[in-house]
Amino acid sequence: MKKKEKSASAAQSISGKLRCPYCHERMEVKALKSLVCINNHTFDFAKQGYVNMLKKAVNTQYDDALFDARQRIISDAGLYAPVHDRIAEIIMDRTTEESLLFDAGSGEGSHLNMIQNKISSETLTGIGLDISKEGVLMAAKNYDGQVWIVGDLANPPFADGSCRFILNFLSPANYSEFKRILTDDGIIIKVIPGTNYLKELRTELFSNTEESEYENNDTLDLLKRNVTVVSEERITYSRSLAADSLKDLISMSPLGWHADEEQVKAFAGEGHKDITVDMHIVIAVKE
Ligand SMILES: [Zn+2]
Repeated sequence: MKKKEKSASAAQSISGKLRCPYCHERMEVKALKSLVCINNHTFDFAKQGYVNMLKKAVNTQYDDALFDARQRIISDAGLYAPVHDRIAEIIMDRTTEESLLFDAGSGEGSHLNMIQNKISSETLTGIGLDISKEGVLMAAKNYDGQVWIVGDLANPPFADGSCRFILNFLSPANYSEFKRILTDDGIIIKVIPGTNYLKELRTELFSNTEESEYENNDTLDLLKRNVTVVSEERITYSRSLAADSLKDLISMSPLGWHADEEQVKAFAGEGHKDITVDMHIVIAVKE
């Protein structure tokens, strides 16, 4: 089966949980080619295996080089593997029946793919959505076990109460929509950077600037104002990265975008630098 048909077929199996971004009506997959609503709004699957459901095209500041760097750090260097392990456990503790795992702001898809690879479940369908077409295109090219959608978090193409798991990994949230699409027993898995996250990057590239401190209080406050936190845990560890990975880390991080060539060279050096990962995994429910 070609990528396009494979993706359409995966979408078909969950089409009852989708809704049209224009009229919010039900959708179905026609001829393994398009998602079509009852009012005939039509979204074609691309040959690379994703579907664009944005009402109009959006330019984002992210480009292919950034997504390539991100893919290598997440999938190849495995910088976040312990975080993925923990999230997979959290999901496996709860999965018993057909469920959607929706990655809200999935970028180039590596977090969702890594997490799903650790879960042995035939009943869990992964869906990644991002507003960046470049990111979703890359996700579809690299990973074919998920449904990849270009879409808007403020208008996600899901029916009310359709998602058992919403993953929100270092990515902005839309809590009113999260609550609308979450099942009654569903959970939001929010990953927020801790104060020591990538501290080496910050202290070496941004000593003496306010960017050398990570602040997650606003993110956490916003979450707590909107949904009910049921648990919060922190995972901290460090990983030694090779020089190429250190360069990738700089290009994928907003912190590194202003670094000049000399700084990048000095930071990456000969490699084998320990990099700190410090994450809060917050589990929240509707109420
Ligand atoms: Zn429609």
